[in-house]
Amino acid sequence: MHWTGPGFSRQAHLENNTMTFEQFGLSGNVLRAVSEQGYTIPTPVQAQAIPVILEGRDIMAGAQTGTGKTAGFTLPMLQLLDKEGAGHGQRPIRALILAPTRELAAQIGESIRTYGKYLPLKSTVVFGGVGIQPQIDKLRHGVDILVATPGRLLDLVGQGKCKLSGVEILVLDEADRMLDMGFIHDIRKVLALLPAKRQNLLFSATFSQDIKKLASGILHNPALVEVARNKTAAKIAHVVHPVGKSNKRALLSHLISTHDWRQVLVFTRTKHGANRLAEQLGKDGIDAAAIHGNKSQTARTKALAGFKDGSIRVLVATDIAARGLDIDQLPHVVNYELPNVSEDYVHRIGRTGRAGRSGDALSLVCREEEKLLDGIERLIGKKIEVLHVDGFTTDFVGQPKTEPDEPRSGGRHGGGSRQGRPAQGHPRVGGPRAGRRGGRPGGRASGR
Ligand code: AMP
Repeated sequence: MHWTGPGFSRQAHLENNTMTFEQFGLSGNVLRAVSEQGYTIPTPVQAQAIPVILEGRDIMAGAQTGTGKTAGFTLPMLQLLDKEGAGHGQRPIRALILAPTRELAAQIGESIRTYGKYLPLKSTVVFGGVGIQPQIDKLRHGVDILVATPGRLLDLVGQGKCKLSGVEILVLDEADRMLDMGFIHDIRKVLALLPAKRQNLLFSATFSQDIKKLASGILHNPALVEVARNKTAAKIAHVVHPVGKSNKRALLSHLISTHDWRQVLVFTRTKHGANRLAEQLGKDGIDAAAIHGNKSQTARTKALAGFKDGSIRVLVATDIAARGLDIDQLPHVVNYELPNVSEDYVHRIGRTGRAGRSGDALSLVCREEEKLLDGIERLIGKKIEVLHVDGFTTDFVGQPKTEPDEPRSGGRHGGGSRQGRPAQGHPRVGGPRAGRRGGRPGGRASGR
């Protein structure tokens, strides 16, 4: 596959807000389900992807969670499958959607049921961590559309419970995350089971060399659909609160209480850290639950349900566990620790500001994380505003609460003081002595 030149075409119409779902030529039954969801205008990824998928073409789409990408591939897929007519009884699986996590798979399954409720197509979702027998039973009755995580799918194929030789449409969702999670070998095994002639749709928030390599082995003459590639959604307000590592928990409690936040998704780097933080917040009187890979599916589902219904204010998650969470109007995402991989920042904050709504992405950053912050800013292509919160920067040695020559302002997040781009010699994290970007020679100050 060529990345420039004749091998791919870039869709010319980018943001087309005057378009309607009717213009795609979707059937009445699909449109009815869409309008019941209250969607009137296609999102940019939908505007670009739906017409090309309906033409039967392969696509390579750079779209992260929150852009409406699920409907972007589900709606045309349903339409195409419906046009050919649904199977009966022992019908073959005609569309396969691979997703990296159980939560994302479940979420896609839910979208397919929602958008396909007036169609005679059957779908199911299979993933690991839960009993395999109910999944086998569903497959035995025949499904047209299967959503799967790669490992469980191969288990089922190995046991002779599911055949992929009739697949007409393959979707790889969050392909970058699948590679990050080490699914490349499983993906290759699955590909070998599929008929050569099929339509391929690949979605990825980021495009590493590995993704391009994978794509070039799968996609044929794909249309390249790009939506804010490697850029975070415009309506998200990014803020960094500099804070000593040992003060992070106190600052988080302070922010949540002061602003009376009711629904906050907080990211930690480790499962253990997630558990500990949820416990500590509980002691501060803030209802919190942790969600990560060591939790049973039942515990995850319960935590998520509590978070959605408001009984749990704070959901503390690791990166992998948070993939696929779909929570409407999630207003606040907090990076309690910055991710080691910059791309994860984009995934994390994709949980807020969804479908054009506004959201806050706050990062509690200690001096050790400065380099990670640099990497994130390079990736998203902008500097993140730094906002000191009074009383929470004290364990940086010599760190004043506010910059001496900066006006104090109420700030949006805690009566803090604002600091935009740092002047030369005025580092952003850790104060004047911390040595960031043109600070004193030698870089970081000691003493935290
Ligand atoms: P996704 O990126 O697929 O995870 O979708 C993000 C959110 O956008 C989901 O909550 C969808 O229900 C919602 N959504 C998808 N398409 C539209 C649309 N055209 N208008 C409004 N909301 C949408």
